[in-house]
Amino acid sequence: MLLLLENINKNYVQGKMDVPVLHDISLSIEEGEYVAIMGPSGSGKSTLMNIIGCLDKPTSGSYILDGTEVANMKDKELSKVRNKSIGFVFQNFNLLPRQSALQNVELPLQYAKVPRRERRPKCVDALTSVDLQDRMSFKPTQLSGGQKQRVAIARAMVNSPKILLADEPTGALDSKSGIQVMGLFEKLHNEGVTIIMITHAREIAEYADRIITIFDGRITKDEKNLNKVVADYKIDENTAAAGGSDAKTPEGTAGITEENVSAAAEAALYDEGVSEEASFSNASDRLMSILNEESEGDEE
Ligand code: ADP
Ligand code: MG
Repeated sequence: MLLLLENINKNYVQGKMDVPVLHDISLSIEEGEYVAIMGPSGSGKSTLMNIIGCLDKPTSGSYILDGTEVANMKDKELSKVRNKSIGFVFQNFNLLPRQSALQNVELPLQYAKVPRRERRPKCVDALTSVDLQDRMSFKPTQLSGGQKQRVAIARAMVNSPKILLADEPTGALDSKSGIQVMGLFEKLHNEGVTIIMITHAREIAEYADRIITIFDGRITKDEKNLNKVVADYKIDENTAAAGGSDAKTPEGTAGITEENVSAAAEAALYDEGVSEEASFSNASDRLMSILNEESEGDEE
């Protein structure tokens, strides 16, 4: 058992009021699983992700991550666990804008105090595995959305964490880039990485092997995904640039098309735009501020 949450409750304090958001969440995830946590906007997905990701603590309940109770850990211990065990991918990439792709990928290695000379080859490997070896010096503004998300995936994985935790990872992407990201997740899953992907869109959840449904802060369903969609990881920027667009939906993966991924992406951007984006930026802002704090005084 890699993760075990038992009777997790989370209340947010708002003025003098305690607002309950998660109720009695219990779930366990084995190493190597590919799980989607699906629910509508406001159902508590990001709140749960923050707890699973050790970015926030539950109000009550137990959370055992890789054999260690983390529910009551101090922030400093929590940040160590986080850095060692979990890679994060967010809807809006969360790259540092003035840093190159390489520098962005290097960040987790700095926090982990990996010696400088060991960092470079790891970063190059990570960026090569997402086919960005020729974009390493590019800044985020010089990259497409799909490329930015691939940098974020390289950053998430550079430390070889056991868990990849993604919050609406395709929400800001066009359909083609979204499928590419799903292809990368499939590849990482096949390499043994545990993937936990948060989404409001069933079309995206269907790339996972197991779908946990959350509604109003409670788990309402937890079942094997019988309609699993397998995305091939295929980079076809050159053919795309040359006008070819034959890639995409591989044989035997009926059920998902570019159109409905696109619809999902659009739903994330427009339909649910305001609340998804608002709660999302809480989570990402929190992560960024934590990361920035940790990087202070880190220069060797
Ligand atoms: P989702 O990611 O599924 O859209 P969230 O976890 O972001 O849902 O939010 C779940 C509920 O918790 C919402 O009703 C939201 O308003 C509330 N909430 C989220 N963050 C906070 C916060 N920091 N303070 C108070 N309420 C919050
Ligand atoms: Mg959310």
